[in-house]
Amino acid sequence: ALVAQNDEQIFRSRYPTVSVPDLTLPEFVLQDAELYADKVAFVEAVTGKSYTYSEVARDTRRFAKALRSLGLRKGRVVVVVLPNVAEYGIVALGIMAAGGVFSGANPTAHSSEIKKQVEAADAKLIVTSGPIYEKVMVKNLGIPIIVMGEERVESAMNWKELLEAADRAGGNNDFTNNEIHQNDLCALPFSSGTTGMSKGVMLTHRNLVANLCSTLFNVGPELVGQVTTLGLIPFFHIYGITGICCATLRNKGKVVVMNRFEIRTFLNALIKQEVTFAPIVPPIILALVKNPIVDEFDLSKLKLRAVMTAAAPLAPELLAAFEKKFPDVQVQEAYGLTEHSCITLTHGDPAKPNGISKKNSVGFILPNLEIKFIDPETGRSLPKNTPGEICVRSQCVMQGYFKNEEETSRTIDKNGWLHTGDIGYIDDDGDVFIVDRIKELIKYKGFQVAPAELEAILLSHPSVEDAAVVPLPDEEAGEIPAACVVINKNSKESEQDIINFVASNVANYKKVRALQFVDTIPKSPSGKILRRFLKEKMIENMQSK
Ligand code: AMP
Repeated sequence: ALVAQNDEQIFRSRYPTVSVPDLTLPEFVLQDAELYADKVAFVEAVTGKSYTYSEVARDTRRFAKALRSLGLRKGRVVVVVLPNVAEYGIVALGIMAAGGVFSGANPTAHSSEIKKQVEAADAKLIVTSGPIYEKVMVKNLGIPIIVMGEERVESAMNWKELLEAADRAGGNNDFTNNEIHQNDLCALPFSSGTTGMSKGVMLTHRNLVANLCSTLFNVGPELVGQVTTLGLIPFFHIYGITGICCATLRNKGKVVVMNRFEIRTFLNALIKQEVTFAPIVPPIILALVKNPIVDEFDLSKLKLRAVMTAAAPLAPELLAAFEKKFPDVQVQEAYGLTEHSCITLTHGDPAKPNGISKKNSVGFILPNLEIKFIDPETGRSLPKNTPGEICVRSQCVMQGYFKNEEETSRTIDKNGWLHTGDIGYIDDDGDVFIVDRIKELIKYKGFQVAPAELEAILLSHPSVEDAAVVPLPDEEAGEIPAACVVINKNSKESEQDIINFVASNVANYKKVRALQFVDTIPKSPSGKILRRFLKEKMIENMQSK
């Protein structure tokens, strides 16, 4: 074993270590907010509703105080079921400043999915908004609910009134809270990781501050206060809350908040709000390249300097088509995962020509990170130019999955390496390329879909005897969830009936979009579904149809 250790092929950043200040996440991102007091931090693209830096700092404090007066204790989870709204960042930071743990949920989730998250997180409180309230309520979760917005909802608390009550209570209005330390948990996003069901990912203030320090290492003082970022990626996802909200607040930029993608609203917002930086996902790049509506716009009016694309692979042809249509916009690919507090690799490499990594790579090793590529069979680390499972070690690695030691020890090994379930390699110039994914996870338009979750739903159908869910490639979505089902011989259900059954139990993005009846589900001797084999079989069957 000793020999193997010495043999390890570990790749480190070519940049010097950056220091990570000992601050909580709210302290870190709102540091110097008073110097930018009147600058807008968040503006909703459609309604124009906005919050300045002084308002963000003020309401973060007020909300933290309100939560404490409601009795929220340190380390307790608050589930937030909201679309992207101007207040989202304030809500998340307020929970953290109160010592609570922010757990974002997808606002399009089915009520049973919200219930699962609330229960799995052992949440003590929910924050939601009027239109979603009904959905949150149906399951009678038995915990207090705070509703955003002007309208009063009976049997729920109103956000604004809570803030006003906090003002009247007087006393401490500071968000430096001596009881909260950097190593305390502050976020619990959900991810299925390499296998099984969705699990709470335990992240501390230090994890997230360290992630921001690494990713923002090359942002010079000339950019502070200058960047206008598009806030379209859902803020419940780590890419939205860390990569967009917190990164922009740290650098005193402006976030243009949008809660759904519609091509005209999107382009109007980019032009009107003078967005300079747009973090997006590959399906939006596809729309910008293919949708004829784009040609109705005068693209010379765009102030857009760069787009960042992450969450799923970007096809090289798509990248080329985008660059042709938007020659002045730099494309920066990034790679990250919830378990690593957001961005793990990204372009923007000062040592490179034009300051950016090679096309089709996902970037270089950021400061403070160590990466290795291992043979998934033997666990041996591999030399450069050789694809293997990407493992990463840094201060951004999660503390583990909430109440799930088994999955935690399967994902983080005893030497602190996070096993990502992604296959990639590093080339001679230090650029990293992703080539495959070995974990079960399906990514539909960048959203996580856990096969195990859909399989459990399929198996709950009385006529389904066995089922397996795999990803199939799709031009628009990247991947779609597809199912193989063994149906009871005496049943009358059609394939479409089973598709509909799943659809009535899950959020839209998790729907099974292709389904085939089969005689058996191929499994390994240990009972594991042979997913790769199934996927190939399904593709073959579809092509021969
Ligand atoms: P999430 O935790 O939802 O951010 O999902 C993380 C997973 O998304 C990674 O482990 C990858 O499988 C995939 N992913 C993220 N970024 C990229 C990328 N640039 N290229 C390919 N796959 C990606």
